[in-house]
Amino acid sequence: MLSQLGDDAKLLAGGQSLIPLMKLRFANPSHLVDLNFVPDAAYIKEEGGAVHFGALTRHAEIENATIGARVPILHDCAAGIADVQIRNRGTIGGSLAEADPSGDWAAVLLTQKTEVHCLSPRGERTVPLADFISDAYTTVLEHDELVREVVVKSPDKGSGGAYLAFKRSAPVYPTASAAVQLGMEGDTCKDATIILGCVGLVPVKATAAEGVLRGSKIDDKSVSTAMEAVRAAVEPQSDMRGSAEYKRTLAAVLVKRAIAVAVRRARGERVEVSHIYA
Ligand SMILES: Cc1cc2nc3c(=O)[nH]c(=O)nc-3n(C[C@H](O)[C@H](O)[C@H](O)COP(=O)(O)OP(=O)(O)OC[C@H]3O[C@@H](n4cnc5c(N)ncnc54)[C@H](O)[C@@H]3O)c2cc1C
Repeated sequence: MLSQLGDDAKLLAGGQSLIPLMKLRFANPSHLVDLNFVPDAAYIKEEGGAVHFGALTRHAEIENATIGARVPILHDCAAGIADVQIRNRGTIGGSLAEADPSGDWAAVLLTQKTEVHCLSPRGERTVPLADFISDAYTTVLEHDELVREVVVKSPDKGSGGAYLAFKRSAPVYPTASAAVQLGMEGDTCKDATIILGCVGLVPVKATAAEGVLRGSKIDDKSVSTAMEAVRAAVEPQSDMRGSAEYKRTLAAVLVKRAIAVAVRRARGERVEVSHIYA
């Protein structure tokens, strides 16, 4: 249908980004192609050491799924998106396709080995999430191509992750957010992935901070050096959510707190977290 209707046609999933943009006249599609009539497009399956999400899986379905107990960073993300109405409608596929710099899913899923399965009249292709988002609100999707499935490899044993965001209230995007995944051996960090949300045009990978933690003991010294590296990595804009300097500090503090939770989860502890509200 997208091929037939031309460049002005748009897919409609949960409508939680597209409809507000249409109301503001920032989007004015000539046709909407409603994915909600496609059968079997919403599911959560564990297969071949990975979790498979149908593109139309709602945030609320992920929030309430049993996978949250095994991979708690997925629950941290799903349960913290906006309010219950938006979580009941908004989808994981729509979230990644929207590539909103403030969106939660991209930051979280970039800490995992995540692939996006894309479908078009030319067939299916698999794109690593790191290559899927090319700029703010921009992905590598062709006009007649959709996200069919999101595949997240299950984290290794001894690995723990956490996602924390700072928000002014529930139904708004975060001011800043931090997703951390750590592979631990005793007190030593074997592997680290740190992704910051809302502090750049795309999610920011804190490569230098990851390097500080990798091979080190997680203690006050390594964490505070990693926080400095986070402050240097982010490129926030001053806006109604706060000044650039405020967001830089926020990102560093969120990383510190997320590291503490990730370490405990890597040890097998059950730790529940929720976003921090102003
Ligand atoms: C008040 C408010 C607060 C919000 N707060 C947050 C928040 O804190 N954190 C957060 O992450 N999000 C937030 N959102 C956004 C919400 O999470 C949306 O669910 C998300 O942006 C995706 O929207 P959707 O699934 O409803 O897709 P839609 O709005 O239907 O579509 C979004 C875009 O993706 C395209 N699209 C949809 N599905 C596909 C697909 N399968 N393949 C290819 N293209 C597709 C559409 O054509 C459109 O361009 C908020 C939304 C609102 C209205």
